[in-house]
Amino acid sequence: MNTLQDKIAIVTGASRGIGRAIALQLAVAGAKVVLTATSQAGADKTAAEIGSAGGQAYARVLNLNDAAAISEFISSVHKEFGRIDILVNNAGITRDNLLIRMSAQQWQEVIDVNLSGVYYAIRAAAKPMMRQRAGKIINITSIVGQIGNAGQVNYSAAKAGIIGMTKAVAKEFAARNIQVNCVAPGFIATDMTKDLPEDVKNDLFAAIPAGSMGTPDDVAHAVVFLAGDATNYITGQVINVDGGMVM
Ligand code: NAP
Repeated sequence: MNTLQDKIAIVTGASRGIGRAIALQLAVAGAKVVLTATSQAGADKTAAEIGSAGGQAYARVLNLNDAAAISEFISSVHKEFGRIDILVNNAGITRDNLLIRMSAQQWQEVIDVNLSGVYYAIRAAAKPMMRQRAGKIINITSIVGQIGNAGQVNYSAAKAGIIGMTKAVAKEFAARNIQVNCVAPGFIATDMTKDLPEDVKNDLFAAIPAGSMGTPDDVAHAVVFLAGDATNYITGQVINVDGGMVM
């Protein structure tokens, strides 16, 4: 049974990696997926894959460093489809450096896209979801938002911020039947992790009880679970998908 049949879902950063897997799995579950990337070509690629698999997808360009564009995008989806059932805040960037070498620009870019972008998207989706008295907001954080990571002060701060934001918004929206949760991936094989130095990768492997990297599909399964109506009594939670790295 398609548990998300005809739900309207938004997935940011779905041209590749985890966002692509989330968009594909939501569509397989029956949702109409509006997916974004920073280029039309990137978004079109995933939308075409979904179309080939028999799903429904709509490709849009969105840069999360542009607050006005985020609000306009969410309003346009609401106008076009009449409702917003699922919002997956997935897009994220890294600008790694040790704190003493981190420029203000590296700090700000990550905070703008990874944290403020999520705030603007939730704020824009909140009104339609409140009027519907239903909605699912799923924010992709990271285990480094829980345990920190040397060289990722900006990213860890943004991801920890997402967890705090999720819990606060979950409290504000719970009575309106809107559930707000996080999925926290550990070490997942995507473009974001492919260029890590071998010694860093080896250290990471040693810290994963499951003994291997996760896949984008591992993360997407948790998102699809949280997007379904069976989870209406789960809110303000962080589900780690990390092979046991943090427990
Ligand atoms: P990825 O492969 O690097 O893909 C990033 C996605 O975000 C792409 O679709 C990209 O679109 C989009 N994006 C980049 N900059 C953007 C911007 N300024 N505005 C809007 N969209 C933008 O990353 P990933 O590994 O799949 O990560 C997805 C999420 O999981 C992120 O939030 C990341 O922090 C989190 N995460 C990943 C891991 C991991 O091990 N991979 C671990 C923990 C958490 P374009 O193709 O157009 O650039």
